[in-house]
Amino acid sequence: MIKITDEEGKVEYQRDAANYKGMADEVFMPESIVEIGPLVKELYSTNTPFTISAARTGLTGGGVPLSGVLISTERLNKIISIDVANKTALLEPGVRLQTFHDELKAHNLMYPSNPTETWSTIGGNVANNASGAKTFKYGPTRSFVNYLEIILPDGDELHLKRGECIANGNDAEVHTINGNVIKFRIPNIRIPKSSKNAAGYFLRPDMDLIDLFIGSEGTLGIVKKVGLDLLYQVEEVLSAIVFFDDYNNLLNFAEYLRNDNPRQLRPRLIEYFDHNSLRLLSEHHRDLPTDAMGAVWVEFETNSIMLEHDTLALYELTLEHTDLVDMTWVAMNDRERDKITKFRHDLPLAVNELLTKYGQQKIYTDTAVHAASFRSYYNEMYSQLNSMGLDYVVFGHLGDCHLHANLFVKSEEDKVKADKFYHDMMKLAIELDGTISAEHGIGKIKRPYMKYMFKVDEIKGMLEVKKTFDPKNLLGLDTLFFNGEF
Ligand SMILES: Cc1cc2nc3c(=O)[nH]c(=O)nc-3n(C[C@H](O)[C@H](O)[C@H](O)COP(=O)(O)OP(=O)(O)OC[C@H]3O[C@@H](n4cnc5c(N)ncnc54)[C@H](O)[C@@H]3O)c2cc1C
Repeated sequence: MIKITDEEGKVEYQRDAANYKGMADEVFMPESIVEIGPLVKELYSTNTPFTISAARTGLTGGGVPLSGVLISTERLNKIISIDVANKTALLEPGVRLQTFHDELKAHNLMYPSNPTETWSTIGGNVANNASGAKTFKYGPTRSFVNYLEIILPDGDELHLKRGECIANGNDAEVHTINGNVIKFRIPNIRIPKSSKNAAGYFLRPDMDLIDLFIGSEGTLGIVKKVGLDLLYQVEEVLSAIVFFDDYNNLLNFAEYLRNDNPRQLRPRLIEYFDHNSLRLLSEHHRDLPTDAMGAVWVEFETNSIMLEHDTLALYELTLEHTDLVDMTWVAMNDRERDKITKFRHDLPLAVNELLTKYGQQKIYTDTAVHAASFRSYYNEMYSQLNSMGLDYVVFGHLGDCHLHANLFVKSEEDKVKADKFYHDMMKLAIELDGTISAEHGIGKIKRPYMKYMFKVDEIKGMLEVKKTFDPKNLLGLDTLFFNGEF
């Protein structure tokens, strides 16, 4: 077990990718998963608060402690097994997504749940129910988790296999490996109509109780092992970036693809870049069309027989929606596909780099709404953005009606405007039956907005669940709830 106590050594562990800052008395870095249990028991017996941290790519402060001890999982990074025949894998929590993707490729397998930040860990992804571009087709991390080993705040453990521990209506019961029975009531809480949601605990009658721990943001237990379902790699992928000179046409193009369509084009991802995103990216990618107002990245899973047909169908659709059809980037091989993927991945990194350079905390939306309400949301968002006079960049998961509007704040006056925009967009998303967080979670930064989305009784219900598993309120202190309250 590595232990860091000096101030300089702790600095990196006291902030996340949103530049949210906190403090830890000590940082513990177990070098084997068997070291976590005894450490947690010791912390529990001494009433010491502790927070779990992994790759620290989180954007809500969930992995940043404000006091107590930090446990980093970064050295717990073994891929325990890959069962090629059954398409499953068992992993330690600190396995980086990129390492896992690379390993799977060698077995002709894939794990499609892919947050843009592939430096993140599988434990962090489970804790946040992370999602990414391909969530449009495949759903978030939750869709692939078949098994979890969870260390509870008192050091006891749960081993949960999907399908084996189902709630009876609102009555739930789990059995620990030490033979303890934990019973609790599942509160009825609002479920948004957006296709993605990462706000609050996953709670609903008759649920599979493994799902409670997925997306619980390191507040109910520590993910010790993760079992995942996998898929075979697809034979061919048609990947393209289509540029538009008109936002309305861009939205029509995306809407066509989001729905069943006569051309039978069914993308696995539909990603959005606004004009400012393209301007920011043009610093790194010189070959961008200068007259584009926005762009959409689409990918289709196909095969050698259908590839030509699908390419032609996409060309025809593009021709109907943009005058910039000749500018379209189409990836014909792995290298070109990687270039497009990198283009998308470079964007949040470029935004975060700018914020870090100016020492600013990230102010951005993670809201999502249902497809039927998306245009209202989109129009109001741009109406406010264009009247505020702030620099901004909007990009994100257009397939899931989930865009990140990032604001650049240079003065106190800007901050007031940005905060108002942030509040207004949260309120609007809720009014439209959407969510305040579609993928990054609540953490500490968005905690005050839980009350926007949930009724007091619903939050109290979640807090009761938290107290059942963590009666001393030691784990992930101040994430989701404030000092054990709300
Ligand atoms: C450039 C960039 C792009 C991003 N794009 C996306 C995206 O497309 N989709 C998306 O969903 N997110 C995205 N994120 C956010 C982030 O990558 C995810 O939230 C990711 O899941 C965090 O993983 P991590 O390993 O970095 O965890 P950390 O940031 O270290 O921790 C995040 C949370 O998980 C908890 N946690 C971590 N490990 C464990 C464990 N073993 N047991 C219990 N709790 C644990 C922590 O306590 C904390 O609450 C992006 C971030 C960046 C910087």
